[in-house]
Amino acid sequence: MDKPTKDNTENKASLNFLEQIIENDLKTDKHQGKVLTRFPPEPNGYLHIGHAKSICLNFGLAQKYNGKTNLRFDDTNPTKESTEYVDAIKEDVKWLGFQWEEPVMYASDYFEKLYEFAVYLIKKGKAFVCEMSAEEMSKGRGTPQTPGVLSPWRDRSVEENLELFEKMRKGEFKEGAKVLRAKIDMTSPNMHMRDPVMYRIMHAHHHRTGDKWCIYPTYDWAHGQSDYIEGITHSICTLEFEVHRPLYEWFLDNLDITEDRPRQYEFARLNLSYTVMSKRKLLQLVEENHVNGWDDPRMPTVSGMRRRGYTPSAIRAFADRVGVAKRNNVIELSLLEYFIREELNKKASRVMTVLNPVKLIIDNYPDNKSEQLPVKVNPEDPESCYKMVAFSKELYIEREDFMEDPPKKYFRLSPGKEVRLKYAYIIRCDSVEKDDQGNITEIHCTYFPETKSGLPSDKKVKGTLHWVSISHAEEVEVRLYDRLFTEPQPENTEKDFKEFLNPDSLKVVTGYTEPVVIGVRPGKSFQFERLGYFVVDPDSTDEKMVFNRTVTLRDSWAKIEKNNQ
Ligand code: ATP
Ligand code: MG
Repeated sequence: MDKPTKDNTENKASLNFLEQIIENDLKTDKHQGKVLTRFPPEPNGYLHIGHAKSICLNFGLAQKYNGKTNLRFDDTNPTKESTEYVDAIKEDVKWLGFQWEEPVMYASDYFEKLYEFAVYLIKKGKAFVCEMSAEEMSKGRGTPQTPGVLSPWRDRSVEENLELFEKMRKGEFKEGAKVLRAKIDMTSPNMHMRDPVMYRIMHAHHHRTGDKWCIYPTYDWAHGQSDYIEGITHSICTLEFEVHRPLYEWFLDNLDITEDRPRQYEFARLNLSYTVMSKRKLLQLVEENHVNGWDDPRMPTVSGMRRRGYTPSAIRAFADRVGVAKRNNVIELSLLEYFIREELNKKASRVMTVLNPVKLIIDNYPDNKSEQLPVKVNPEDPESCYKMVAFSKELYIEREDFMEDPPKKYFRLSPGKEVRLKYAYIIRCDSVEKDDQGNITEIHCTYFPETKSGLPSDKKVKGTLHWVSISHAEEVEVRLYDRLFTEPQPENTEKDFKEFLNPDSLKVVTGYTEPVVIGVRPGKSFQFERLGYFVVDPDSTDEKMVFNRTVTLRDSWAKIEKNNQ
């Protein structure tokens, strides 16, 4: 796997292509020393890890060069947008650790200004009201090799265009009856330059402007002009917009904007294996109940990752490591998980939790005795304090940690064998009891008091197991999450992406854990020793705590992939 090693992080000091551009602009005083970037989400869904990458890039560049970043909602498509999404997006950007320039911007704030700009283009003979239907227009577009059909309305007089455009605004026409188009070039090999639509009629209620408008600007028309209005210096977007750049420039040219023009730059969008990132598909997963909402911990959304126990700094470190590329590629999900483990290893308190319990009885331990064993909360933290862990005669261990008839090199517990119970004693298994179906119900052991953890002892064992004292343990619900898809690139096959949904992406079990976790607030992470990192879920109540598995301790999928080779 592509883990960060000394070698591949060495050129960290060198600048990426966007940093080079900015440094050059600063040197030549292109924007009077100003760096103003923007993050322009459309409020039609929740942010995902790809957006997080874009956020880290836009805000990160501004921070590095003493600049600022606007948060601008690209709210030009009222039928798909809502304030629920606006609020969630704001929360996610803040959670990732970034602060936009106040106030929050909205493309809808510029509707009036954009309208005036459009009138300016009409007056210059550079835009016209077209009455072709959407179907006729798409039929008449031509191909990059063959010219498109000229609209029969292309040569309307300026006066007629102005009058019709005003009537469009006033709501005098039905949806689809008319559009405003830029008059550019129906022979251009760039299809985006073939008289693109600037406005369409939509009799739709907008979450901010209400019913004030019934014509709405297209992305291409709104975006560059919004950048200009805000004084954006570097407008960074993903590679698929590279072919839109000539249009971005054309609008600014024809509005006669010569000073302080924004410029668009493109980088490769983030693609992650085992993940879908299209908002349309994520919405489908939510609406068809394949997951429990946008913040389901299996979702690649920022809110899902937050609930899963991912941390903002680990996501930022991942985004930084991925860097900016000019060519599309797919990043391994395991790289993101690597950064999560790295951080949680440093931060998470350790607790012992048993998820698939079998009872272990220490026959030579006194019946009513219990001991409190001192244990470091986090051995990775030099300043870690100690907590007490209760030990007694009856314990739970994991069922998988015992085998009656083990293969060679099985270092866990089996009849006649000895292991250490972590932080406690070495024990030996003497016998087992079973129910009528042959399932093991009790494991009987002997403990060796002289092997208490911390005391010098000659006894050596190969295996160490985690455990909990049954009478002290607390019952909790544990949600074991795994990858949502079984296929590395679920969007890139002939089949529907939903066919690759992992049926085992969620298992709910009852766990038995140390009482120290009780009452801890949602969002707090723990390492369940030997099992992985887990976080307290907001569904927790006073009666029952709920934990989500953030990530296993090791990359178990890498092992599977290796075994399959
Ligand atoms: P979708 O195509 O799924 O609707 P989008 O790109 O249209 O997503 P926007 O809300 O328009 O979503 O995106 C806001 C910003 O985030 C844009 O600047 C876009 O380029 C960027 N962005 C979206 N997806 C990614 C990604 N996978 N990697 C990097 N940046 C992304
Ligand atoms: Mg978009």
